[in-house]
Amino acid sequence: MSNLTLIKPCPYCGREWGERVYCQSRGQVDGLPEGVVMATLARRLGGFLLDSLLSSLTLGIGWLIWCVIVWGRGQTPAKQLLGMRCVHLVHSNSASWGRMALREFLLKLVLMSLLTVATLGLATLVLSFQLMWTKNRQQLWDLIADTIVVHDPNKRLTVG
Ligand SMILES: [Zn+2]
Repeated sequence: MSNLTLIKPCPYCGREWGERVYCQSRGQVDGLPEGVVMATLARRLGGFLLDSLLSSLTLGIGWLIWCVIVWGRGQTPAKQLLGMRCVHLVHSNSASWGRMALREFLLKLVLMSLLTVATLGLATLVLSFQLMWTKNRQQLWDLIADTIVVHDPNKRLTVG
């Protein structure tokens, strides 16, 4: 019976959470304020497209300056506009500026560029869709930086 203790019911809907950190029916994330849910695949895709658009519209520079400002809130420009935040799983709070720099710059830009060149694009093709099959919708850079991406429509998360 001991393994039953690993399964805890969701405090909001009573369903079991399983191995994931969020509720399967409402998306509520464990340990975060009520209403903070796992970002959907559609919102993540929207964020990717919006960041790409904003980056090209501002010739990269404006977007980069914007990034440096909002990284401290666990966000990118698109995440800010779409109400998403990166959360550090260990501390259950917005990812810090340093963690965002690791996630966005070192991993997403530098490491992925190297992997893309080394695999002739294959790594990008596969890893871009990794959030579709990892249990907490994590990309490679989330798995390494220990982050998840949440939707916080009511701005319940605080910084730091
Ligand atoms: Zn639930």
